[in-house]
Amino acid sequence: MIIPIAEPVIGEEEKALVLEGLASGWISSIGKYIKEFEENFAEYCQVKYGITTSNGTTALHLAVIAADIGPGDEVIIPSLTFVATANAVKYVGGKPIFVDSEMDTWNIDPEKVKEKITRRTKAIIPVHLYGHPVNMEIILSIARKYGIKIIEDAAESHGAEYRGRKVGGLGDMACFSFFGNKIITTGEGGMIVTNNKSLAEKIRMLRDHGMSKRRKYYYPKIGFNYRMTNLQAALGVAQLRKIDFILQRKKEIAFSYNKHLRFLVPDVILPPEKSWAKNVFWMYSLTLNNKKGIKRDVLMKRLKEKGIDSRPFFFPIHKLPQYRSGENLPVAEFLAENGLNLPSSINLSDEKIKYICDTIISTLRP
Ligand SMILES: *Cc1c(COP(=O)(O)O)cnc(C)c1O
Repeated sequence: MIIPIAEPVIGEEEKALVLEGLASGWISSIGKYIKEFEENFAEYCQVKYGITTSNGTTALHLAVIAADIGPGDEVIIPSLTFVATANAVKYVGGKPIFVDSEMDTWNIDPEKVKEKITRRTKAIIPVHLYGHPVNMEIILSIARKYGIKIIEDAAESHGAEYRGRKVGGLGDMACFSFFGNKIITTGEGGMIVTNNKSLAEKIRMLRDHGMSKRRKYYYPKIGFNYRMTNLQAALGVAQLRKIDFILQRKKEIAFSYNKHLRFLVPDVILPPEKSWAKNVFWMYSLTLNNKKGIKRDVLMKRLKEKGIDSRPFFFPIHKLPQYRSGENLPVAEFLAENGLNLPSSINLSDEKIKYICDTIISTLRP
């Protein structure tokens, strides 16, 4: 028996809508569920337009193109994120500029963003990592001052809130992922949300081979086939109906882990939740903080022996060979070396959480 890190929970509602989609014959990227999912999800994010995509990475790629980022343009991103954030910038010949994280939120450090602004800075991609929103205020004021765009990478934070506002509507555009382990899933899938009508139209066109809205089979731009299917969207519509329940479960799971592990502080750092933030605890995560104590990889090995799946934090992108920048970003490096994600499926029982915590405790405090 292995307790998985994440597991999609697909119920009768999902099955019914997908079967209805199949029966309708609209199995590719035309069909009523696409529109319904786009409208419902945009509304959920308190944003005007939603454009579904084949996955979260293609959503980022299209957002970067829509922001007019091209060869030589600099885009500021955190080093501690999933690699797709950086790759999307590279796809268009742009240069990702890496910024350190802050200990308080594990997200991009807004104070350090300022230092990286140059004449070539075109955009900032704040990533709401592991479900906690970025402290947006300073980032938004920098963006206004220099006239640069904000593309939120909200792939891990559906429903998270910054000062009472949902992520997704905080910048010019936001990208979501609906991969199997994300907060809601369509198997593979993504969406860009925006309040800007012309950006929405541009993205829609690029997603569909760059075809003109007015003239069929006329292509004034080089586009892509980055569409979601109607069957995936059907799954998304059913999942979205349950999102409040899913987020409630995520919160309960986080509280339950916190309750058992709190006494290990300060040898471990529990997941952040700033007073201005609603964390959605996509993956319950810990950072080990005892330099002389057990190493993260040793703990992960021990968990595995006990049938518990876990995952190290992302590798800091500025240390990957294709992105190596030669800089030291100490907070990102510390978190990447000491952080781990723990099982967080919404069907995880309290007994299992206790078992996982007991294993952690007996490893760290033998
Ligand atoms: C999952 C994820 C993506 C990419 O989404 P896919 O749907 O897997 O392509 C991008 N950014 C972050 C932060 C992610 O976690």
